[in-house]
Amino acid sequence: MRFIDIEGQAVTANHLTEIIDSGRISHAQMFLGDTIYGSLALAIAYAQYLNCEHREHYDNPEEHGGLHADSCGKCPQCMKYEQLSHSDLHLFFPTTTTASEKSKPCAAMFQKEFREFLASKKQRGTLDDWYDFLGVDNKQGLIRELDSDEIVKQLNLKSYEGFYKVVLLWMAEKMNAVTANKILKSLEEPESNTLIILVVENSEKMLSTIISRTQLVRIPRVSTGDSFMAGDIVLRHETQTEFGKLYVTWMRQLFKLNMASLSSWVEEVSAMGREMQKQFLLYSQESIRECFMCNNAGVPLLIDFGDEKFNKSFPAMITERNIEGLNEAFDNTIYAIERNAYAKIALMELSFKISKWLKKR
Ligand SMILES: [Zn+2]
Repeated sequence: MRFIDIEGQAVTANHLTEIIDSGRISHAQMFLGDTIYGSLALAIAYAQYLNCEHREHYDNPEEHGGLHADSCGKCPQCMKYEQLSHSDLHLFFPTTTTASEKSKPCAAMFQKEFREFLASKKQRGTLDDWYDFLGVDNKQGLIRELDSDEIVKQLNLKSYEGFYKVVLLWMAEKMNAVTANKILKSLEEPESNTLIILVVENSEKMLSTIISRTQLVRIPRVSTGDSFMAGDIVLRHETQTEFGKLYVTWMRQLFKLNMASLSSWVEEVSAMGREMQKQFLLYSQESIRECFMCNNAGVPLLIDFGDEKFNKSFPAMITERNIEGLNEAFDNTIYAIERNAYAKIALMELSFKISKWLKKR
């Protein structure tokens, strides 16, 4: 899977290739986000890019779906990744007993089925889709103790082909406590050139001891269809600069909660027209996410607000205590604007919510 094949996630893809190109690869990462929005596909594309022998870098991202870089898709490493047949890619996922496997299920038994499932759903199939694929009803799958033995073994073995070994756990929240505890030590001290990626949809179900040992990559919700592409806005440079100014002014007012200047700001944005309002809100939502990545995952801030002081200070305002709340507030407002809500009221309400969340940092 190349990044270009993953719809709507160019911003995240650019973060990921940046992490690899800068050589700051964490050996344990958690990709947090729904599989249908590409969390698993991004993890696989990330592993492929990591191993690609001829990574491509683009001077003209607008001609490459907004991407700054991607794997080549043609070298031997890429070819094996495209087929999901790379001997240094180890996939683990929830399993359950099926009609043919009646006892002690584990991921090793279902490797062929899982790859077929991934191919059939373009790596975006949900857990329910996977159970449907296996033909099991109402059974709860788990990543089991048998799997953790294998995971630990793989994390402690040198890579087979001399490239990066990637151990990928899809729906890692389906590990039970025994399994999770078994892999803890390996998360801390894996072999060199070995990477473990946990793809997680619900982090609340993960042990905090696991979360604290991983670097977080948050996968935003984007539409897999036509209209709504929050993760992938490609703006013209002038618009970006204009949005940056508006954004800095807005956030500063929200700190002071200066009602008079906030009102005139809302007037100004309300006059922009619905499509521009939506684009601005998408830009703002993406900015929040980038700031979070910068503050939390230590990646450099890729967005430039056009104000040095703000570039430096604002990311620290976005933490794991307010990112979800902020994201949801933007989602709701964008949804409302798309459905012709009265812009002034929607923007004012959003402003109060943001102000509240920023205080909770
Ligand atoms: Zn390649």
